[in-house]
Amino acid sequence: MLVSNPWPTEALRLAGLVGIGVVVGLFVGQPLTGLLVAGAFYAGMQMRQLARLERWLRRGRSFRPPRANGLWGMIFDNIYRLQRRHRSRRRRLVQLLDRVKAASNAMPDATIVLQGDGEMVWWNRLAADYVGLQWPRDQGQRIANLLRHPSFYDYFTTGDWEEAVKVPSPISVRRMLEIRIVPYGREQQLLLAREVTRLHRLETMRRDFVTNITHELRTPLTVIRGMSETLGDDPDIDPSLQHGLNTIQQQTARMGRLVDDLLLLSRLETGEAVRGKTTVEVGQMVEGLRDEACALSDKEHQITISGDPALVVHGDEGELRSAFSNLVVNAVKYTPDGGSIDIQWHEGDGAACLSVTDSGPGIAAHHIPRLTERFYRVDEGRAADAGGTGLGLAIVKHVLARHGARLDIHSELGRGSRFRCVFPEYQRQRAAAAAGS
Ligand code: ADP
Repeated sequence: MLVSNPWPTEALRLAGLVGIGVVVGLFVGQPLTGLLVAGAFYAGMQMRQLARLERWLRRGRSFRPPRANGLWGMIFDNIYRLQRRHRSRRRRLVQLLDRVKAASNAMPDATIVLQGDGEMVWWNRLAADYVGLQWPRDQGQRIANLLRHPSFYDYFTTGDWEEAVKVPSPISVRRMLEIRIVPYGREQQLLLAREVTRLHRLETMRRDFVTNITHELRTPLTVIRGMSETLGDDPDIDPSLQHGLNTIQQQTARMGRLVDDLLLLSRLETGEAVRGKTTVEVGQMVEGLRDEACALSDKEHQITISGDPALVVHGDEGELRSAFSNLVVNAVKYTPDGGSIDIQWHEGDGAACLSVTDSGPGIAAHHIPRLTERFYRVDEGRAADAGGTGLGLAIVKHVLARHGARLDIHSELGRGSRFRCVFPEYQRQRAAAAAGS
């Protein structure tokens, strides 16, 4: 029976017991003994209820509480109610967890929950399939111990997870995974992996196709160029054909540049790490760039340079020269005669920068994000006249990405352009600094 406030009844029961004890004690001339016996009886009753409570709690599984009245009945009922509430909350949580698990298992991406230094806490079914994880064997293992590809290691350790990284699956090199890490909470990350094998195969096919066709074009191009030069050198040639021959020579030279650029780009695109890295003294390279610009400009532009000889970067000298040269050639090509070109190699904002600034026509803001796409041209006519291949800035972007650097373009219509190659990783050579000063 549930009583709203059991204390008055309990107090009455104690008072009654004590009263009876004292009265009986008075009858036999021992009121104190009567009081003690009544007290002991009451304590015995409480002990009995405590023992029932302890037995009930110990058994745990027995759902129903022991029957009792008054204060103890209320205590049993309250514990029982708390227990029921706890059980139903736990059931709801388990159901929720099951639903979350089912949803994450239905996700088209592999998901791994990481914490701290990349310890794996939980993963879904696809993660087990893509990465070969086994529950619970791999729980607590570091992800870097399983995904050992150098690209993943670099990606994971740099902590720059804006972009995704492509790596082969550790269980089959023929399966390509695109992995992205999303940080959340405190030192927790979500690793998401997608299978991109088909896409990767298509990309490789496209690249191979371009490379093969470009290679195949080389031989006929050399023959056409050779023949047109031989014919052009012939003094007896019909003068009416001379103009046509000149055009053939110009166009074959342009196709030759296109073939070279396409081959270079496909080599850069394969994503292989830079081979033959050396310390590149860009300060010295700037001198060569000035000579190149002067030769191309034929004294029509004012060309200035300044280079900090102490600043060096680590990379492929040939690739970097080709990238910088593309920027300088563009500046000369697109800046009208009489304009100025400034080439600088300096340190600023925690990075080393090679900047090429010109006083040319400038580029409208909406073109700038697309300039590094292959064959993207602001002005088809002007670019064709300048004899460009449309691949120069794409090459620059790839070379810089391979060196952990980026290209910043700042330009305003009618006010010229500034192309900056920003190298966050660079060194300042002490000996060179001393020699330079
Ligand atoms: P292209 O071989 O056509 O020069 P690039 O990839 O080097 O190809 O450049 C892409 C386009 O960017 C060019 O066609 C040109 O319109 C524009 N561009 C590049 N550099 C400059 C510059 N310094 N000033 C103005 N426009 C430029």
